[in-house]
Amino acid sequence: MDMEMKEQRGTRDLDSLLHDRGLRNTPQRQLIYRIVASSPQHLSAVDVQRQLEDTMPGISLPTVYATLDLFAEMGIVRKMALAEGPVLYDTGQRHPHAHMVCRQCGRIFDLDILPVDDADIAAAANQGFQVDSGDLVLHGLCADCQAREHDTASKTTAPEQRTAA
Ligand SMILES: [Zn+2]
Ligand SMILES: [Zn+2]
Repeated sequence: MDMEMKEQRGTRDLDSLLHDRGLRNTPQRQLIYRIVASSPQHLSAVDVQRQLEDTMPGISLPTVYATLDLFAEMGIVRKMALAEGPVLYDTGQRHPHAHMVCRQCGRIFDLDILPVDDADIAAAANQGFQVDSGDLVLHGLCADCQAREHDTASKTTAPEQRTAA
C-alpha cells in the first residue's frame, strides 16, 4: 500500500479506479464521492445520507456505508474511527493530515501534519508489523469553546492541562 499515492485523485479517476475493480461508476457513487470530497467537514454515513436526500431520496444507509467503505478500500476517502461517535469519512483529496477533536462541541479540525511518518512505520516494522495507514487524533478544546469558557469563568488554563470537563 502506497500511502502517498492516494493523494491527488479526483472524480476524473473514479471511473478508472472503479473500472479496475470491475465496478461501474454509477450516478449514486459519483454523488456520494462528490459529497465527501466537497465537504469541509468530516462526514459520517448518516451525514452523507442526509445530504443525498434532496438529489437522490431513498438511498438506504447500508448502501451509503457500503459505498463509503468501498471508497476507503480504494484509498480515495479515509475512514476515521474516533473513540466516541460514528466512523467519519474524510476525502483522500487532501494530503494525509492529523485531526483535533474538541471535547466540548465535538467538532473535528484538520491539522496539517503527517499522522504517520517514516520513523513510525519503521518502528512498527521493527516489531514485524506492516503499517497500511494510521491516524493521529489530538483531543482538547477548540478556540471557540475556549473563548466561551473565558466568558463564563475568567480563569485561563491551557487546554492540555485540563483533563476532565
Ligand atoms: Zn469546541
Ligand atoms: Zn481531515
